[in-house]
Amino acid sequence: MPLKPDLPQPEAEQQRVGYAIVGLGQLTVEELVPAVRTSEHAHVVAFVTSETEKGLALARAVGLGENDVYTYDDFEKIAERGDVDAVYIVLPNALHREYVERAAKIGKHVLCEKPLGMNADDARAMVQACGNAGVLLMTAYRCQYTPEHWAARDAVQNVKLGKVKLLDSVHVQVEDHPEAWRLKKELAGGGPLVDVGIYCLNTMRFVLGQEPEWVFAALHQPEGDPRFEEVEESLSFMLGFPGGVMANGLTSYGARTTSTLRVLGEKGSLLMDPAFPYVGVSLSLTDEQGELTPSFPTYDQFSREFDHFAQCIRQGKRPWTPGEEGVQDHVVMDAIYESARTGQVVKLKGGQGKDAFRGTAPEVPGRD
Ligand code: NAD
Repeated sequence: MPLKPDLPQPEAEQQRVGYAIVGLGQLTVEELVPAVRTSEHAHVVAFVTSETEKGLALARAVGLGENDVYTYDDFEKIAERGDVDAVYIVLPNALHREYVERAAKIGKHVLCEKPLGMNADDARAMVQACGNAGVLLMTAYRCQYTPEHWAARDAVQNVKLGKVKLLDSVHVQVEDHPEAWRLKKELAGGGPLVDVGIYCLNTMRFVLGQEPEWVFAALHQPEGDPRFEEVEESLSFMLGFPGGVMANGLTSYGARTTSTLRVLGEKGSLLMDPAFPYVGVSLSLTDEQGELTPSFPTYDQFSREFDHFAQCIRQGKRPWTPGEEGVQDHVVMDAIYESARTGQVVKLKGGQGKDAFRGTAPEVPGRD
């Protein structure tokens, strides 16, 4: 099992918030399981998977037993596990809603991977289910928990760049497996927009703390390429924020991995390049005095998420990126697809106030 070898072995700590991880794909095996072992407040106590052998091997690797591995059919048995406080849904997008609702029904708090659902209605139903059950729901937006992204946001919020006028953000990668679930509309809900372009949208909303009032978009879906029979290859969108701030986003499954964010203000600018990798996010700020490239403490993005949600559960607080934050991205992405389909600007509600969909600010390493 490809666990990162240099991490400490798990400890049995009764105080930690216990997670059951649902879905043992690439993200769980390569990132989440190693990350939770570096967290301060969380540990994994169960896995849910259809791949029993893989589940047992992973369980053994983290010091769990065969009774800690459940099948999807057995999911509800987790209700009996007092040590499972939260369920982390790491499945293809189309399955998020089913498992969020099933988790809520058995009274477990839910951390759910992005995109929260398949569209805004789907995501709203998930928020409603968790609200009705009295459990917390957090959307796993890892980039809202990093010191670099918070420093970018602080530079914008503290007007270090002067009045912000323009933003642009790119997130592209090559998806070359025609059979990948990410290319099936029924499983993914959309193409690169909902998978990687969502980071451009979410991060531009995060640094501004505001919501777009209109969107305009166009997409390209090449004929004859089996990868793009159901979803777009590339998509370009424009967002209009309050006060005339304009933002551009570019996303694609056809171009080599690149991720950037740029914010341009009257007195200065910032550049994150790369902006969205798991490790090695880079930020530079430029003003009349010159360029500054701040350094940041070492941290793990996924570990930050595990810990933030664990603290929210213990303290009964609303997470910084609750279900509503996931819904809002779907509202905008639904409008982006509508604009690309109709060729028209789509107006949005806007005007909800600062950080309208967010909860308790997280602890961010190195930030006062
Ligand atoms: P993956 O394909 O590697 O794993 C998917 C898992 O779901 C596998 O364990 C697979 O067995 C299981 N599964 C159950 N039913 C399935 C079905 N009908 N079709 C395909 N797989 C099925 O995917 P992943 O990269 O781990 O992505 C899972 C979720 O995590 C997605 O929602 C994705 O958007 C999200 N994700 C987030 C990040 C991030 O940085 N936050 C990164 C990667 C993926």
